[in-house]
Amino acid sequence: MLQLSEIFYSIQGEGTWTGTPAVFVRLAGCNLSCDFCDTDYSLKSIASVEGVVRVVGETGGSCPMVILTGGEPLAQVETLALIEALRHDGRRVHIESNGTIYATLPEDVWLCVSPKERVDPRMAARANEAKLIVDERVPEEHLPHFEHLQSILLQPEGNKQRNVEIALAYAHAHPERFRLSLQTHKFIGVR
Ligand code: SF4
Repeated sequence: MLQLSEIFYSIQGEGTWTGTPAVFVRLAGCNLSCDFCDTDYSLKSIASVEGVVRVVGETGGSCPMVILTGGEPLAQVETLALIEALRHDGRRVHIESNGTIYATLPEDVWLCVSPKERVDPRMAARANEAKLIVDERVPEEHLPHFEHLQSILLQPEGNKQRNVEIALAYAHAHPERFRLSLQTHKFIGVR
């Protein structure tokens, strides 16, 4: 069974796929406890893999994109089975991970790694997208893990002005490699 926090239909507000309609499956629990974490990933319900696939359909209709997030979505043993079931159901699966838990993922799964205190280099190497959280500083220590990516996203923590300024200055200084990622869903008041 999967431990769930919530399932809802919204848009991807951050990163490469900003603006794309998506069903979010927020899995409960996380293996880290970051100081700045503002996500409620508490356990609200449990469901089978088939039950989650059914609710995704009821919630988002034919929406192709399903984003598994958390907490840490790869912390649950049945997440890989959920990925398979969603793909079998015709969904395009995206994963938002802190990159600490190694998993072998199908090639067509989009993996966004947002490293925090540490990252598994194998997951960093698998990442399709890297989102570095700028919280008073750019966490440059993670950059060597993402040499394979053309661009790196800098996301100001909490959209705070100070963090926006730091991220923007860094992107301006390294324009060939860095982009801002803003939490646009918060601008328009959606989850
Ligand atoms: S890894 Fe993400 S979800 Fe987990 S505690 Fe840190 S910010 Fe929160």
